[in-house]
Formats: sequence, structure tokens, C-alpha cells
Amino acid sequence: MRDNVGSSSSIATAARMDTASLYALSERYYLPVYRPRRIVLDHGKGSRVWDLDGREYVDFGAGIAVNALGHAHPALIQALTEQAGKLWHTSNVFISEPPLRLAEQLVSAAGFAERVFLCNSGAEANEAAIKLARKWATAQGREPERRVILSFRGSFHGRTLAAVTATAQPKYHEGFEPLPPGFRYSDFNDLAAAEAAMAAGDVCAVLVEPVQGEGGVTPATQEFLSGLRDLCDRHEALLILDEIQCGMGRSGRLFACHGYEVVPDVVTLAKALGSGFPIGAMLVGPKAAQSMQFGAHGTTFGGNPLAAAVAGAALRELNSPQLMANVERQAQAIRAGLAALDSELGLFSEVRGRGLMIGAQLRPEHAGKAGEILDRCIEHGLLVLQAGPDVLRFVPALNIGDEDVADGLARLRAALLQFLGR
Ligand SMILES: *Cc1c(COP(=O)(O)O)cnc(C)c1O
Repeated sequence: MRDNVGSSSSIATAARMDTASLYALSERYYLPVYRPRRIVLDHGKGSRVWDLDGREYVDFGAGIAVNALGHAHPALIQALTEQAGKLWHTSNVFISEPPLRLAEQLVSAAGFAERVFLCNSGAEANEAAIKLARKWATAQGREPERRVILSFRGSFHGRTLAAVTATAQPKYHEGFEPLPPGFRYSDFNDLAAAEAAMAAGDVCAVLVEPVQGEGGVTPATQEFLSGLRDLCDRHEALLILDEIQCGMGRSGRLFACHGYEVVPDVVTLAKALGSGFPIGAMLVGPKAAQSMQFGAHGTTFGGNPLAAAVAGAALRELNSPQLMANVERQAQAIRAGLAALDSELGLFSEVRGRGLMIGAQLRPEHAGKAGEILDRCIEHGLLVLQAGPDVLRFVPALNIGDEDVADGLARLRAALLQFLGR
């Protein structure tokens, strides 16, 4: 098999490759930064996905909290195909309607923002926010010079050099030194520690996820997030909320900060913003909306009409009371299911999160086994995620239905029984 996949003729002549051959291609050609599971996803509809061998899965992972409207949503297909026949790309030398409409929609839905910068990914949105904070602080011209970005242990902000430096987890830093200076870390949900970290007056921005995603699905406490707002006001720093994972309805509100009633200066978005089509955004409130002027920042692809048309359609679907009601309903169903599983099987030490962003912390005797449980789930027709080695993460589509949730929980139970050898 290995010899065979390397030859171009095998690719050209194979009408349809099987799972093993495609997996071998991934091992042969991809930079080995991922460790994908040994299935090949072929197509999806709603919260169901099928692999190349025709096996069906319930999707509790939604492409890592991206496919917020499930797979093959008709409104998104329509937006994509209509725009695909009109105009894909203009460059930022010219404007077009879809990204303008999207910016208008985002500003009006957010309430806290005046201006929008569109980009292609989460890391890019955070990169833009970090640059904006520094530019804003430079224009303030105050002493001491404010350059420091304060972020929190367990956070995840993306993989570009600045975003990964803001990501306060050593495993993402190792080997990439020297990291850019001007970053400081503090403990999540520890307001006193944040206050101490800002005491010197050199912090230009606090960057925080209202609900930490990759770091274990941990919501900020109300006290912590409100307290950070106060600290930023006191020390004249910007409050930047990374809502790349918890935003766009996942928390049960369109913006997670709406649920906390905290008014941010900057919010970054990506993942569900395009509900499967790559796009990111930085929303900026009145304090810093003028700090990036002509030439200060840019991107070739950001805000292209194709991505923006899809995101605009997605936002129209996501910004709806009925959808938010479904998030609450299905979050309760999943939590009830996990509680029942736990009382039967005794696996979790805590179930936490907000809305349809739910983490189940494994008990100490099962520490490190989240990946193994994921494998068992796949064997039983369920796609779930982990958040680190000790947490199962459930981030299904926000429009997931009752039957999908019930089936998914039944498959989870079967997988957990197998995992426990029962
Ligand atoms: C996924 C994620 C990012 C990075 O987004 P990319 O599109 O992968 O660059 C940043 N912050 C949070 C909270 C995320 O979940």
C-alpha cells in the first residue's frame, strides 16, 4: 500500500480510493502535526456524518465547534453557490456588498462594537487584536509605556507566533523560542492574581476567553470577568474577549459576553462565524475603533465576498431566539444524559460549560483516557472531542435535534461500557 500511494498513476487511475489508501496518503504527504482518526469522512447532513465505508456517525464535535448549523444547511449552500456564480474575490482595493452587509450585521447584533476587521481565521483575529492593542496604547502615549498583553493559564488563542505566545500553555511554546516579548500570564478565574499582574501599569490589554475551550471547557466566573472589566478601566487597558469558540450562539447567547453583561472593547470571532467556511473577525468598540488607521493592518483574503456571503447567511440563522432556545434545550438534555451516565458508570468528576459547550472532566482513575474514549465513541458511531487528556468535550451543532442527541447519548453509553470493559 505504502509503495503504491506514492505513485501519481495510482492517484490518477483510482476511480475511488478506499479508507486505508487515503489514510496512507495522509501519512505520506501531510506534515505530521495532526493525528487524525482512521476514518475518512465523506458527507454529512445536519448532525449526521457518513464515512467512506457508509458508516453513520452522530456529530457531537461539529468540526471543533465550527459547523454550528450542522452539515449541508440549505441556507448556507444557497448563499455559497449563489455567490460562487457572481464574485469570489475583490482584494481590499475595492469593496463589495457581502462583507459590508456582514460587518453591519455584526455591529448591530453585538451592541458593543463600532467597527469590524474581517480576516480568515481565529489566530488572525487575535493577531489583529494584539496589534490593535499595542497601536492603541502607543497613541495614548502614557507613562509607563503600555506594551504587555495579559492572558491566562489554560487559554488557547491560536498558532501564529503572537497568538501562540498569548496562549498560556507551555506545550504550545516548546521549541519555538524566542517568543515575542510583552506577554504576561496569570491564573484563570483568579482576580487577585490579575490585579497583581496589572499593578505595574504596563498592561495594554487583557485577552481572555469567556469560556476556555481547548484548555478544558472552563467558564469564567461572573466575578472574574466583571472584575477584569473594572481592572481594565482602572489601568486604562483594553478588554479583549476571545469568543472564537464560545461565541456565535454556542453559549446560549449570540455573544458569550452578553450572558455576562460585560462590555468588551474588542471581541474576536472565527469558527462558527462561517459555520464551516473559513472566516474570522475582530469587532472593536468605541475606545479603540480609530486606533488602526490607513496602512496599519491588512490581509489579502480577509472579508472576501464568498466567505462573507456564507457568514452573513449563517449569522441570520444563528441570531434567532428559536435557535438559542434549542441551545438551552439540548444543553439540558446532554447534561441530563451525562449525569445519568455518571450515576450509572461513575466516570466524571465534574460536568461544566455554558450552553452547547460542555466538558466532562474524567475522574482521577481515568485521567489521560479522553483520547481512548474518543476511539471507542468512533467505533460506536459517535464523533466527540477532547479538551486536553482528561476532558470529554461536547460542542454539537446548535440546531441539533432531539433524536440526534438521544442517539448520540445512547452511543456514548455503549462506548463508555466498552471502555470500562463491561
Ligand atoms: C480555535 C481557536 C482559536 C484559533 O483559531 P484558528 O482559526 O485555528 O486560528 C483561537 N481562540 C480560540 C478560543 C479557539 O477556540
